[in-house]
This record gives sequence, structure tokens and C-alpha cells, in this order.
Amino acid sequence: MHVTDELLHDLIDKRRYLHEHPELAFKEVNTTKKLKDWLSENDIAVLPYDLDTGVIAEIKGEKEGPTIAIRADIDALPIKEEAAVPFPSKNNGVMHACGHDFHTVSVLGAAILLNKHRDRLYGTVRIIFQPAEEIAQGAKSLVDKGVLEGVKAIFGMHNKPDLPVGTIGVKSEGLMASVDKFDITFNGIGGHAGIPHHTIDPIVMASHYVTSVQSIVARRLDLFHNAVVSITSINGGNTWNVIPDKVVLQGTVRTFQPEARDAIPRMMKQLAISIAEGYGGTVEFKWDAYLPVVNNDRAYEEVIQNTVKGLEYELVDAEPSAAGEDFAFYQTYIPGYFVWMGVDGPNEWHHPEYDLNEDAIKVAVAFFATLAVNALEQEAE
Ligand SMILES: [Zn+2]
Ligand SMILES: [Zn+2]
Repeated sequence: MHVTDELLHDLIDKRRYLHEHPELAFKEVNTTKKLKDWLSENDIAVLPYDLDTGVIAEIKGEKEGPTIAIRADIDALPIKEEAAVPFPSKNNGVMHACGHDFHTVSVLGAAILLNKHRDRLYGTVRIIFQPAEEIAQGAKSLVDKGVLEGVKAIFGMHNKPDLPVGTIGVKSEGLMASVDKFDITFNGIGGHAGIPHHTIDPIVMASHYVTSVQSIVARRLDLFHNAVVSITSINGGNTWNVIPDKVVLQGTVRTFQPEARDAIPRMMKQLAISIAEGYGGTVEFKWDAYLPVVNNDRAYEEVIQNTVKGLEYELVDAEPSAAGEDFAFYQTYIPGYFVWMGVDGPNEWHHPEYDLNEDAIKVAVAFFATLAVNALEQEAE
């Protein structure tokens, strides 16, 4: 599908407007209002979901078929912009440093294009403008409101500064890591450092745990799964001659396989209990499931690859990232696929001088519009 110069220039203007007016997670009030205006100017139906921020729109094809979704995230970050762009943030201390302004206008552009080509759609395309990705709560809040009801599959992207414009990175299964947090308290009995047999020493328990826990990755995890377990904080005791009554460990686990994400906390808890009990103590194990794995469904790999090739863009194997992305929540409910979109930027995500090449808008618009047509066609077959 052809992206006209007129549409492209309009989208670049809109992207610059959003860049100048970034808003933090769940505070995207103006962005939401603008999106509703832009959608209605283009005769695209906004669905009546009761959302404080974020917009759900829909394009009904002329042919019967299922519903698929395309998602863009719309929030910005609490970063003071230092990029030398002619349209810097006017909202001091807030910046589109993750390129969600680019995601927003690209998906808007795809919606505008699809709305003009409804005759080519075997079904319906739901457009999800999601709030609050940066705090990993937006996707979940939309799922709770029912935005995935009746949706067969969902597609999304993240811009990738280290890939050139016109390059799209594709990889099935784990693309972005799960991010989980833990808090483990070893409880003993405090007392005199010179009379340890009257105590139960939680420092010894915690010390054993810190070294033993690495054996989970080395000895218990499947060779073809990968993970890191990092203990990032140890707190216990406050002087040299007293054994404390508890030690608290904190840290994070990252992995790329849902199976590993499932298994690791069970193994960690088992190890903590056995060490605590082995020393006569107890343990409290708190697990905070923060973000699932961005787990791309292989069933859509081919249609995505063919879409990229059909548009004569460059298809590359996507390199996985240990950063998290809340697109993963949708994929725990329905199949989905998330790709890297090359934007040829000078810096990584969340950098105060983050910037991108706006030529990538044209690529992303063509990709998502064509993918929607092709994916619905695949479902219809
Ligand atoms: Zn980000
Ligand atoms: Zn982002």
C-alpha cells in the first residue's frame, strides 16, 4: 500500500507535535484527545471503551473475517531532553526518549491507509493506542477493560536505533526478556557474636544462598534456556559483635523462555527453604511478577517475513533485548508478534539525546498496513 507524500508530511508534523508535548504514563490526556481528533478527521471509528487515557479504534473491512489488533504505546519518560532537534519537548523534564511518538503516528498512519482500503480487508483491524508502557501497567489495564475481546492476534513494534531505516528485525519466540523482582528474608535468632550456638545465624544462611542460587542457572535450567539471577542488595546486621535476627536479599531474574520464567522462582524458593531449614531458621520468599517475556508466535513469522520482502524492505534476524516491554502481557492472552523497526538513531532508548530518522515513519506505516491485509488474508484461508 502506497504512503503518499501528503500523508507522510502530515504524520511527520503530528509526530513533531507529540514530541513537543510528551506526557507521562497514565497522564496522556492531551495525546488521547489529539488522537481522537485525528481519528475522527479521518472517519475512523473510536470504540466506546471507558479509558482515562489511551484510545481504541477499529476499521471494519468490507469482507467477513476475524479481528486482529495493531498496538502502539503513547507515553513518554521523566527525562530532560538534551537532543538538538528543532522541535524539543515543551514539557520540562518529560521526553519522548523511547520513540513512542514515532510508534503512535506510524500506527495512526497505518489506520488511515487501511481505512481507505477497506475493500482489501478480510475482517477487522483494531487499533490500540496504549498508555503507560514505561511503567508496565498500560497493557494490563487495557486487557482488564476487555480490549482484546474477540481479537485473534496482536502486532506491534519497537523502534531500534541501531538498525538502519528500511530494516525490520524479526524473531520468533523470546525477543525481550521477562523482568521479575524478588525479596527474600532469612529469619534466625539474633544474639552474641561470641556465643553463636545460642543463635540461629541468618548471615550464614543468606551467604550460602547468594552463592548457591547461581547453581540454578548452571545446573538446573535447560541448556537451551537462558537466564540471569542477580542479587542486588543484602541487608542484615548493624555492628561487629551482634548476630542479627534477619537478613533481606533483593534482586531480579531475566529470561527469554516462559518455561524458564515459570521454573526459576519455584527452584529459588525450594533452595531458600532448604537452606533456612538446614540451619534451623525460616524464610519468607516474595516474588513480584513484573513483566512476561515478549514471546512471538511462530504462526505469524512467515506472513511477517513475506510482508517485509513484498515491500522490498530489508529483513534481518532480530537480536533479543534484555529490556522488558509490556506488549508481552497481550501475548499471555492471545498470539502476538513484535518486531524491531530500524530508525537509525544516534543513541539507545531512554537516552536524553535520543533521536530517530523520521524516514522510518513511511516504512512503519507501509509495513503495518500491509501486514494487517496479509494477516487477515492468512486467517481467511
Ligand atoms: Zn522505554
Ligand atoms: Zn519503548
